[in-house]
Amino acid sequence: MRVHLSLALVASWLLAGCASVSAPHATPSATTAADDNLDAVAWTQTAIEHDLIYVQTYRDAQARLLAALHDPHWDALTAADRVAPAAGLPPAVVLDIDETVLDNSPYQARMVRSGGTYDEASWAAWCKEEKARALPGALAFTQYAAAHGIAVIYLSNRPQDLDTVTRANLRKLGFPVSGADAFLGLGTAVPGCMQHGTDKGCRRQLVSRKYRVLMQFGDQLGDFVDIAHNTETGRRAAIADHLNWIGTRWFVLPNPTYGSWQPALFHNNWHQSPAQRRVQIMDSLRYE
Ligand SMILES: [Mg+2]
Repeated sequence: MRVHLSLALVASWLLAGCASVSAPHATPSATTAADDNLDAVAWTQTAIEHDLIYVQTYRDAQARLLAALHDPHWDALTAADRVAPAAGLPPAVVLDIDETVLDNSPYQARMVRSGGTYDEASWAAWCKEEKARALPGALAFTQYAAAHGIAVIYLSNRPQDLDTVTRANLRKLGFPVSGADAFLGLGTAVPGCMQHGTDKGCRRQLVSRKYRVLMQFGDQLGDFVDIAHNTETGRRAAIADHLNWIGTRWFVLPNPTYGSWQPALFHNNWHQSPAQRRVQIMDSLRYE
């Protein structure tokens, strides 16, 4: 009996100890609810490999930048986007913002914690906090470009009405932000060009009228080309003619947390339930 009581006491102490050691900052329900984005967000925020890929990409680009600058024929816009001759135009680099130069993983982490999903209001609220951090290597690269007289253009799908807060966030971190063309957000008027959704083609054409583009940077395929058919094969076809530009004119960064790669797996049909979408993502996996 005595032993029995002792074991019970030890067991209760162990349980109490476990509870205190594992006491989460979030609510128990939030910590136990499965979220398919948990590992991706954790990797983005904590894996040194994530940071090294960014450093590697921007460092490599910087090593190539002056050669591109000094080659008057060097241009990083496709024939479709190049609507005015590049010769004689001032040089620029074009960068996407989110998950290319700014790290919005805290917004993703909050959704994992709350079980929420992306919506325009919560996204705008996050942007207005102006708390996004610089991604590794991006600051050094953009400052290097600006120091060599190269315009730094942020071509982003943040709505144009987030112009002020986005510029403020970038400037706080030390990014060069100069002139009206520095931020070309979603909704930027491009006369004579029919814009479709979040496609960036018209804005790239706008850039082509004023600049010779040395390099482009992005975490989404759409940062480089408009995608006619957002399927696995359609996405590969969209980039097929420019594969030799990857790592020389175009620099691609990783984003496992969101992006057009994902709806491509469920026919771009967001009206389906999360469970229905998940089944199709599962079906996309290869087992051999
Ligand atoms: Mg992005």
